Amino acid sequence: MTRSISRRALIGGASAALALPYALRAQTAAFDFDVAIVGAGSAGIAAARELQKIGRTFVILESRDRVGGRTFTDTSLGAPFDAGAYYIHWAERNPWREIAEDLRVPVIDSSTLNTGSRFFDNGAATERGGRRGGFQNVMRLFDTDEGDVPDVSFVERIAGLGDGAGGASAIARMALGEEPENVSALDYARLWSGDDLIVPSGYGALVTRYADGLDVKLSTPVTAIDTSGAGVLLDTPKGRIRARAAIVTIPVGVLKAGGVRFTPALPEATQAGLDGLGMGALTKIGLKFDGNRFGLKPGTDLWERLGPRASINFECWGFDRDIVIAYFGGDHARDIVGHGERDAIALVFEEFVKLVGEDARKSFQRGVMHGWSADPHSLGCYSHALPGHADARAKLAQPVAERLFFAGEATGGEGFGGAMTAGGAALAGREAARAAART
Ligand SMILES: Cc1cc2nc3c(=O)[nH]c(=O)nc-3n(C[C@H](O)[C@H](O)[C@H](O)COP(=O)(O)OP(=O)(O)OC[C@H]3O[C@@H](n4cnc5c(N)ncnc54)[C@H](O)[C@@H]3O)c2cc1C
Repeated sequence: MTRSISRRALIGGASAALALPYALRAQTAAFDFDVAIVGAGSAGIAAARELQKIGRTFVILESRDRVGGRTFTDTSLGAPFDAGAYYIHWAERNPWREIAEDLRVPVIDSSTLNTGSRFFDNGAATERGGRRGGFQNVMRLFDTDEGDVPDVSFVERIAGLGDGAGGASAIARMALGEEPENVSALDYARLWSGDDLIVPSGYGALVTRYADGLDVKLSTPVTAIDTSGAGVLLDTPKGRIRARAAIVTIPVGVLKAGGVRFTPALPEATQAGLDGLGMGALTKIGLKFDGNRFGLKPGTDLWERLGPRASINFECWGFDRDIVIAYFGGDHARDIVGHGERDAIALVFEEFVKLVGEDARKSFQRGVMHGWSADPHSLGCYSHALPGHADARAKLAQPVAERLFFAGEATGGEGFGGAMTAGGAALAGREAARAAART
C-alpha cells in the first residue's frame, strides 16, 4: 500500500505530490531527522545523548538563547549560584551523579554544608522548638507509604493534626513552591527520597557541559506541532522541521498556557493530564555583599516567617562566597515577582536587614532575581498534581499518535518518584528517546 502510493506520487511529479493530502504526501518525502527534541533542559539533553547512543539522527529546538532550562548557574554576582536546580536528589539512582562522575565534576554531600539555622518571626528571633515540632509531625504524616495516602490536598491531609498547619504550609511553599491547598498529598508521597548531593561549580554548569557538541538550535521556539500526517511537523519562526517522532520537554506551565498549537488537538487524556497539574512559584534572589558576614558563619540558614502565608529562607555565604540566596514560594512569591526585579530585590533585601541589622545597607552591592513563575520559557518552578488528580502525570506520559512523547520533570522516573527534579527529567528524557527510536 505504502509503496504504490509513493510510486504514484513520484511518477506524477511534484505537482501530483502537492495535490495529495498531507497524509499521503509525507510518505514520499524524506524526514529531516529521526527525532525532533523540543527543549534543551535536563530532559531534552538526556534524550539527545540516548538517541546518540542508539544511533538515531536528531535536532534540539530550544526557545531560550542558552541550554539547561530550569538548571542554570548564574555567575552575574561574581561567583556561581544555582538559580534553579541545586540538589542532586536521591543521588543513589540519579543520572546526574553518574554524569558528574564521568565528566569529573566534583560533587559533595549536602549535609556537610549547613552550619546552623536561626528562626525569626517578622524580624524577631524565635525559639525553633515550637515550629520544629509541628514540622516534624507533618513530615511523619507525609512520609508514610503512598498506599496510605489519600488523593487530597496537603491541608485536608493534616486536618486534625493540631499544630501541623504551619509545617504543611512550609513544606508546600518552600519545597514545592505552592500553596498547601493546591497540592495533592498522594503525588507528594510518591516522590523518591535519598541522599542529596551538591555540585559546587553549579548544577546548571554540569547540565550545560553535558550538552557540549550537541546540535541545539537556540532561540528557536516551536510554535506548532502537527501529527495529522506521517511523522511530525514542527513550526518555528526559522522554518519547519519534519521528523519521524518528537519528544516534547516544554514545561507544563508553557503547555497549559497554550504556548504551542497542536494539530489535531491533544487527545482528551493528555489534556486531562495537563489540566490536573499545576506549577509552583519557587523563586530565588541572589544578594551580593562586600565580604561583611554580619557574624554569620558560611552555611547559616535564616528562616523568616512573615505571616501565616509568607516566609523567606536566606542561605548565607554558601561555599564561603559573598552571596546570600533568598528563597520563597507560593502566592507570596508570585506577588513579589509581580513587582518586577528591582523592587522585588529591594523588598527582599529589607527583610534581610531586619534580621542582620542596618550594617547590611553599607555592604550590599547588587542582586539578581530568578522569578521562574513569570519566565515565559517555564511559567513556574516545577509541577505538582492538584488534589484529586494524582493520575495526571500518567495521563501526560501517554504517547500521542505513537510518535509524540511528552517528557520532562512532570513525568520523571518510574511511578513518577522522580517528578519535579532534574534527575527525573533526565530519566524521562532517556525513556522517551528509547520509545521514539522504536517508532
Ligand atoms: C528555583 C528552583 C529550584 C529547584 N531546585 C531543584 C533541586 O534542588 N533539585 C532538582 O532536581 N530540581 C530542582 N528544580 C527543578 C528542576 O530544575 C527541573 O525539574 C528540571 O530542570 C526540569 O527539566 P526539564 O528538562 O523537564 O525542563 P526545563 O529545564 O524547563 O527544559 C525545558 C526547555 O524547553 C524550553 N522551551 C519552552 N518552551 C519552548 C518552545 N515553545 N520551543 C522550544 N523550547 C521551549 C525551555 O526554554 C527549556 O529550556 C528546581 C527548579 C527551580 C525553578
